[in-house]
Amino acid sequence: MEFELDSEQRMIQESTRRMVERDIEPLLVAHDRDTPLPKEAMQKIFAVCAAQGLTCARIPEEAGGAGLSALTLGLMHEQLPPAIALAVIAHEGTGARIFLSSNQEQRARFLPDIISAKRIACTGNTEPDVGSDPRSVKTRAAEEGDVYVVNGRKMWITNASICDMINVTCSVGKDDRGLSNLVRVIIERDHSPFTALEIGMLGLKQGHLSEVLFENCRVPKANALGEPGDAARILTLTWLANRPIFGLFAVHLAQKALDAAMTYARDRVQFGKSIASFQLVQELLADITAAVTSSRLMCYYALSCIDKGERANQVSAMAKRFAVNSCQRAISLAMEVHGAMGLSREMGLEQLYRDARMLTVPDGTNQILTLIEGRELTGVAAYRS
Ligand SMILES: Cc1cc2nc3c(=O)[nH]c(=O)nc-3n(C[C@H](O)[C@H](O)[C@H](O)COP(=O)(O)OP(=O)(O)OC[C@H]3O[C@@H](n4cnc5c(N)ncnc54)[C@H](O)[C@@H]3O)c2cc1C
Repeated sequence: MEFELDSEQRMIQESTRRMVERDIEPLLVAHDRDTPLPKEAMQKIFAVCAAQGLTCARIPEEAGGAGLSALTLGLMHEQLPPAIALAVIAHEGTGARIFLSSNQEQRARFLPDIISAKRIACTGNTEPDVGSDPRSVKTRAAEEGDVYVVNGRKMWITNASICDMINVTCSVGKDDRGLSNLVRVIIERDHSPFTALEIGMLGLKQGHLSEVLFENCRVPKANALGEPGDAARILTLTWLANRPIFGLFAVHLAQKALDAAMTYARDRVQFGKSIASFQLVQELLADITAAVTSSRLMCYYALSCIDKGERANQVSAMAKRFAVNSCQRAISLAMEVHGAMGLSREMGLEQLYRDARMLTVPDGTNQILTLIEGRELTGVAAYRS
């Protein structure tokens, strides 16, 4: 058993950290922290992430991608501010999904611009009435000669307002059980225009989360991906690594809260002593440290199981749920260490708290992740037979 990162992994972590410091943080600081970044700023960020292989991590090298292991990708994402990490993984995950289910002609047409980040991509699955149960998708793709005519709405779509192409899950009818027969199509905005509106959210406010409206949107059938009926499988393949990586987004936030709490506890004096000398404050610091350490290790473990080719559905769901929940609590405890200062906008902990809360929902709510864990542990599926 080996708990140390190797020298190459540490180097990748370090170069990603330097990229964030040099190229990303200054852009975040230069813009309002409560407003989605302008597209030009996001394009600059995507370009520096592309240079690090973050836009094509799960596309193999022989296909022009970076071919990174899941753990390496997680180590890199742990260094990114989560509003940016979410945008990058939505883009990169879309590229991975296209790679996994496209023909040579489609790969040649879509992937180079995703890899170089010349065009921004995203995936639209969720709808106003369809969240945890993606098989109920209602957005309709009607066949008309060599096009699909797409009508419907998607909701909470990362990157949609700034994207150039969106991978949309649509229904082409129902099966005998009343579930949608799904098809995935790449909708290119310049060719097949659609409307995307920003949705105001609790946290991750410099990122983009949108509602998307397709009205008689005509999409060439040549943009349909994969085999009929494989939509859920392809989405699940990317969710498997995404989940522990989302856990590491939470670790990033909680580590910042821990660093701030350690400094504050040493500097702040009450009753004539540093508050770090009070045993109850030490308990807070010990609990925060335990949460950050255990969350990080569990996410690394899940990612390494994926890299070893082991069945990772349970550990991946467990890692996201545990890390996001533990890190939310850790940030809240770090706020306690700061007293009233912990609640101030000036200190920035409230932003970490709001950002972490956002992570409980995408790529599996707490309840859905629990049910996946339960299914893997017992062999009995609670929500679908
Ligand atoms: C930051 C963020 C980024 C996102 N990015 C994207 C994106 O890029 N693309 C995309 O398509 N979507 C995206 N989403 C949407 C996300 O995938 C959905 O919000 C999520 O799947 C949950 O769906 P819902 O919000 O409709 O909740 P619902 O599914 O309506 O769930 C409501 C509540 O019911 C619970 N529940 C549902 N079913 C069960 C069950 N069987 N048993 C027990 N409890 C249950 C849920 O856990 C939850 O507590 C994003 C969301 C967020 C917050």
